[in-house]
Amino acid sequence: MSKFFTKNNFTIPSIGLGTWDLRGNSGEDVINLALDLGYRHIDTAQMYENEKEVGNAVKNSKISRENIFITTKIYTLVVKNNEIEDSFEKSLLNLQTEYIDLLLIHFPAFTTNLHDMLKILFRIKRSEKVKNVGVSNFNPNLINECINLGYDDIFCNQVEYHPYLDQSQLIKTLDKFNIIPVAYSPLAKGKLLEDKIILELSKKYFKKPSQVVLRWLNQQGWVAIPKSTNKERLKENLNIFDFKITEDDMKLIHNLARDYRAVPCALGTTHQIDLPSIHGDSGLELI
Ligand code: NDP
Repeated sequence: MSKFFTKNNFTIPSIGLGTWDLRGNSGEDVINLALDLGYRHIDTAQMYENEKEVGNAVKNSKISRENIFITTKIYTLVVKNNEIEDSFEKSLLNLQTEYIDLLLIHFPAFTTNLHDMLKILFRIKRSEKVKNVGVSNFNPNLINECINLGYDDIFCNQVEYHPYLDQSQLIKTLDKFNIIPVAYSPLAKGKLLEDKIILELSKKYFKKPSQVVLRWLNQQGWVAIPKSTNKERLKENLNIFDFKITEDDMKLIHNLARDYRAVPCALGTTHQIDLPSIHGDSGLELI
């Protein structure tokens, strides 16, 4: 059980706020509210077109910058390698900050190849405008490829994970290289919250179904970034540290796996399931 996970002396809160689809004034209000409620980790992306809203909310919160962990992601499906540095500077401007805690490659799709992409991101990291570099939607082969290319300082891999999706193969690889696992769509976009077993466990532990699922992730050492627009649900999702799921019940939840993806396909990529592991000079043809 942990409220934080640590790697290389950097601490990441184990529950973050997912911000997909939180845009405009109403989106900014939700981010403000989350910060008021105690969220200290915000997950955004260039693709979400809400970095400005995140930046405004962080500024309005009056919480000192070093106490908030901000992740953003390069929109690698659209941003060409030679545009990455400029696009990153734009993210900094939108987020109204001098540095990002974690910068991710959003999808394993590149205009040239993985090596070039990593070179650019780690060059940005050397400038200290980025504290950590990570990846998203990478399968075990791609993780191995990063390591083989000499990039063994990958902070995290952000992928879909929840009880309806088995990620045991990927987990082994991330463990091996000490890469922090981050679960997106941790509630399978709400679908899991009506599951019979989850509802039974919710009664047993006197917790909400969402709390059972998020606790299950936390006990496995996963960071989770649930999204909610509702005050009570935002509170629930943060309040998972006062109970423990037994080993038997952990297994019961593991047994729910059925290869269900809440995000089966992102803009033409097939995520981490069946991407080729080798990239030619012209990059992956995914789009
Ligand atoms: P989630 O699994 O977080 O589910 C969000 C849905 O669940 C919303 O409809 C929300 O409704 C509902 N919900 C949230 N909390 C509760 C609760 N306690 N009780 C009942 N319902 C609840 O899905 P997301 O896809 O949004 O994933 C979370 C984040 O992960 C994204 O916002 C984004 O930041 C990131 N992500 C990253 C991807 C990537 O490629 N790297 C891909 C997809 C997501 P309501 O708002 O009404 O509470």
